[in-house]
Parts: sequence; structure tokens; C-alpha cells
Amino acid sequence: MFQKILIANRGEIALRVLRACKELGIQTVVVHSTADADAMHVRLADESVCIGPPAARDSYLNIHQIVAACEITGADAVHPGYGFLSENAKFADILKAHGITFIGPSGDHIRIMGDKIEAKRTAKRLGIPVVPGSEGAVSDPADARRIAAEIGYPVIIKATAGGGGRGMKVARSEEDLVQALQTASTEAGAAFGNDEVYIEKYLEKPRHIEVQVFGDGIGGAIHLGERDCSLQRRHQKVWEEAPSPALNAEERERIGATCAKAIADLGYSGAGTIEFLYENGEFYFIEMNTRLQVEHPVTEAITGIDLVHEQIRVASGAGLSVTQDEVRFQGHAIECRINAEDPRTFTPSPGTITHFHTPGGLGIRVDSGVYSGYKIPPYYDSLIGKLIVHGRNRVECMMRLRRALDEFVVDGIKTTLPLFRDLVGNPDIANGDYDIHWLENYLADEEP
Ligand code: ADP
Repeated sequence: MFQKILIANRGEIALRVLRACKELGIQTVVVHSTADADAMHVRLADESVCIGPPAARDSYLNIHQIVAACEITGADAVHPGYGFLSENAKFADILKAHGITFIGPSGDHIRIMGDKIEAKRTAKRLGIPVVPGSEGAVSDPADARRIAAEIGYPVIIKATAGGGGRGMKVARSEEDLVQALQTASTEAGAAFGNDEVYIEKYLEKPRHIEVQVFGDGIGGAIHLGERDCSLQRRHQKVWEEAPSPALNAEERERIGATCAKAIADLGYSGAGTIEFLYENGEFYFIEMNTRLQVEHPVTEAITGIDLVHEQIRVASGAGLSVTQDEVRFQGHAIECRINAEDPRTFTPSPGTITHFHTPGGLGIRVDSGVYSGYKIPPYYDSLIGKLIVHGRNRVECMMRLRRALDEFVVDGIKTTLPLFRDLVGNPDIANGDYDIHWLENYLADEEP
């Protein structure tokens, strides 16, 4: 097992990883920017190293500084959290070259999944159902027309290097197609420095359902069920739940088993999430994330398994602590992402939190690094915490969520809490009856 883990992240996820390390009796080092000197994880860590100014490219994305921090403190492994360097294959390779363990998959697996076309090709080869579309990148308008006609309109043009929902354009007819191809490619070039795009069938009313998988690093793999993350705004997840209100036990078992087998065949090591769109009883692979997800706690709630413990175990060569047969799904869990944003316009609202009071009681978990008096720096994403609620069934979970949202107090800044208080009382949400467009439509209807 590792002696000392360096946490290369900030905010709630840095604290989340730190907690797991403490439980396992592993020493912790955190790196932080000058803007985060007062952060909770910095206060709680055994050691901390300031690695640069506020801008992420000079601190949390600065590979050399992080490797130097490992060398200085003698850390033998790095947990990258999510975002920042968590899906950076070069970072994984450099750590390896320095004899430091990257708590995550191999650089090669990160590379495959980071290229959307390669990822889709790999998924298909491994028996995972994919969205019908072009086999590779498309640049010639004539090819685009032929492929779109084959798969049928509407189609969506997506960036090979895509992420965060950028560089995507929908074309509803041949007339839209050439323009969409050009816009998507230009946007992709600007956002990712790679203008390659591909085409796939556009699904009109899908749900976003993702499967949590775990490769044990020694040839085996398991799945930990699915999460439904259909409630999104601008392709950003807002509310996540497990299990999905849309799946039955047989569908769950089938897609889970397909994913676990694929991950074992790939020889993948560590936590991963295989994301699907789900429509009319069919699953369509869209991408795989090769890291821990923001929404991992809903899976922890229904399985009782600590995903960060498992990541650390697997990376150390100890394998998983559970077999597939031992995984039991119990009850229902929902996570709300509390952002420092206006609940209607979603404009960031950094500043000082004058009062912070979190709900408690049975089935309530709050993952957050903030506290009363904490000043939210304006340089990073606006997630300030996650409320995760567990109940024996979805009805109990919703009752508890409503109560917990009432208790939650964040003063001094705007947050998305009021949005969740509205959502929890909405009949469609109560019935689990929503697709990936539901929230955008709801917000548009609410506009004064
Ligand atoms: P990114 O890596 O940018 O997040 P994804 O491929 O994961 O891109 O897609 C993000 C979101 O875009 C999905 O959750 C879904 O809302 C929408 N989307 C992607 N592909 C399709 C498709 N073929 N049909 C309909 N919506 C899609």
C-alpha cells in the first residue's frame, strides 16, 4: 500500500480524496495555488505545497510543479480527482517515468478514450452498442451528405477531441449540414486545437445513463450499476440519481454485464464511466470517462462501496475489495450539484459565504470544502458542494431531499439551491419522467 498520496486537485474532491486517505492510514500531501491557501483540504492535509498563482495553467495544470512537489515530499502516488490533469495521458506517463503511481488507468487507455472516434471504435469492437454514424473523421461535405443520408436526419456533428459539450452542432436537413459541419469544425479547432469532427445520428429524446465500471488491474472487472444524469443544462449535469428511474432490473444487469466484460477485455485498470444515451429501450455509447466522476457518491450510497478506497487499492496492486456477486444495490440516491451561481441565469456568483449550514440526519451526505467565512475565488468552476440523499426507495429519497434542501443555508452569495427546491416539487421529476432536454425546456418556460 502507498505511504503518501499527493492530491492534485482542489475543492470538494480534494477533501473527498483526503478523507479516503485518512481512513486508510495513508499520509497526504496537497498542492494548491495561492488562491487556495485557506482551503479546507489544505488545512486538513498532513503537508501542503503551494505550486503557483491562481490561474489553473500555472498551478493545477502545471505538471512540472506537481512532479517536483512529489519529489520534495516523497509522495509515492498521485490522485488527480476529476477535471484538471485527471484525463491527461502525458501526466500519467510522466509520473510513471518518475516511479510515481498515477491513481487511474494507463496513459494508453486515457489516450484511446480521449479521442472520441478511437473510443467509439474501441467500444464497438468490445461489444458495446454505439450511436450509428461515421466510422471516422469527416471533412468533405460530399462525404458528410452521403453519411447523413445513410443514417437519416437529424444528425449531430461532434468534435473528435470534444469535451464539456463544446463543438457540437445538430443538422436537421441536408440544407443545414454543410454549415453545421463548418461551424462545428471551427469551434472544435478554437476550443481544442483540433478541428476534426465526426457525424452521428441525433437522438431526439434520450436519457443520459452511465455505467460505473472498475477494472481490478489484474485482469478482472466489475460494474456498480448505473446513474441517470439526464437533468442537464448546456450539457452540464445538474442532478444525478441511481438507479435510473427508466431501467428495469433485467436491462440494468444486461448493460452492466456488457460493460464489465468490455472493461476486463480491454485490460483496463481503475474507475471508469461508460456514458450512454438511452432511447426506446436501446443504449448508445457516447463516451468513456477514465476517472472518478463528480456524481460518484450516488453509486457509493446505493452500493455502500467507497470508490476512492477501491481506486487506491487497485492502483497499489491489491485488486478490488468486492466481487461482482458481492455487489448489492440498496435503495435510491440523488445528488444535487450546488453551484455558486444565479439559479436562473447561472452566472457565477463568487464572493464570501457569510453563513454556511448543512443539513443532517439519516441518509444525508454533504461533500463540500467551503465553510462560513470562506471566500470563493473567481478562478475555478463554481461547484461549492454536493448534497447526496439516500432512501430505501425513490419516494423516501425525494421526501428526504425536500427536507434537506429546506435545511441547507448558504448566505452571502447566490447558489443553485432554489432551483433544486423547485425541481423537487415538480410532478415530472417526482415521476422520474424526464429526458436530456427536460431541464432546458423547463428553464425556458420559467423565464419571465
Ligand atoms: P462531451 O464530451 O462534450 O460532454 P458527449 O459526447 O459526452 O460530449 O455528449 C454530451 C451531451 O451532448 C450528451 O449528454 C447529450 O446531451 C448530447 N449528445 C451527444 N451526442 C448526442 C447524440 N448523438 N444525440 C443527441 N444528443 C447527443
